[in-house]
Amino acid sequence: MRAKNSKYLAILEHMNLGTTRLHKIFTRKNFIKSVLICVNLWFYILIFCFLLSAFVYSGPLSGKIIIVDPGHAAKNSNGEIINYGCKSASDVKEMDIVIDISEILGEMFLQNGATIYFTRDRQNYWRTAESQDVDNQARAEFANSKNADLFLRVHCNWSPRKKKCGVSILWYKDDSKKIAETVYEEIKKSGVIVDGMHKQQLVGFEFAKVPSILIEYGYLSNKEDEKLLKDKEYLKKISKVIVNGLNKHFAEEKNAGKWK
Ligand SMILES: [Zn+2]
Repeated sequence: MRAKNSKYLAILEHMNLGTTRLHKIFTRKNFIKSVLICVNLWFYILIFCFLLSAFVYSGPLSGKIIIVDPGHAAKNSNGEIINYGCKSASDVKEMDIVIDISEILGEMFLQNGATIYFTRDRQNYWRTAESQDVDNQARAEFANSKNADLFLRVHCNWSPRKKKCGVSILWYKDDSKKIAETVYEEIKKSGVIVDGMHKQQLVGFEFAKVPSILIEYGYLSNKEDEKLLKDKEYLKKISKVIVNGLNKHFAEEKNAGKWK
C-alpha cells in the first residue's frame, strides 16, 4: 500500500512538475505574445500619428519653401555696420524688431508644414557684405539657391512725416504681384491700419528669381506704430493675418492647377 502510495505520489509529483513546466512555457508564450501585441500596437500608433500629421500639415503651405528675411544688420570686412535700418526716437531699432517678427512668422510657417530658412537670426545676427546692395543681392541669391516658393522680406518703415503709419507691402516682378495683393487684402480685412501696396524696384527684388514680397510692419517714426511694433501680441496678430493670406494664395494657385 505504501509502495502504491509512493507510486501515486511519484506520478502526482511528476504531473505537478509537468504542470509547472507547462505553466512556465505558457507564461513565456504569453509574455512573447504580450510583447508582440505591444510592438503591433506601437506600430499602429505610429502609423496613426503619421497619418494624423499628414492630415494636419496638408494645408496650402505644407511643403512650401519659405525664406524669411529679417532686413538689415550687415557689417563689412572692417566690422563697420553698413546696413543699420531705421530706428525710433527712443532708439528702438528696425534690425531688432524684424528678428522678433521673423521668429513669430517662422513658428507659424512651421506649424503650417512649410520649410523655413532665415537669412539671419538672433544667433547669427550680423551678415557680412561690403555694401547694402551686395547684401540684398546675396539674400535674393540665397532664396534662388533654395528654389523658394516665397522670399519674404521683413522690414519696418520710417518717414519724416511723423503721422504716417500702418502696414505696407512692396513687390516688383509680375510673379509676386498676386501674392502681394492677396496678403494685402487679408491685412485690410483684419482691420489693421494699412499704408498701401507699392510696386518698387529694389535690389533684393531685381536679383530674386522666385516670388518675393517685402512687408513693412509699421513706421518706427510714428509713436503709435512704435508702441505696436514693440507689442508681441500685435506682431502675432499681423503675422497670423499674413500667414492666412499666404495660405489663401497657395490654395488659389493649387485650385488653378499651378502645383499639386
Ligand atoms: Zn528696412
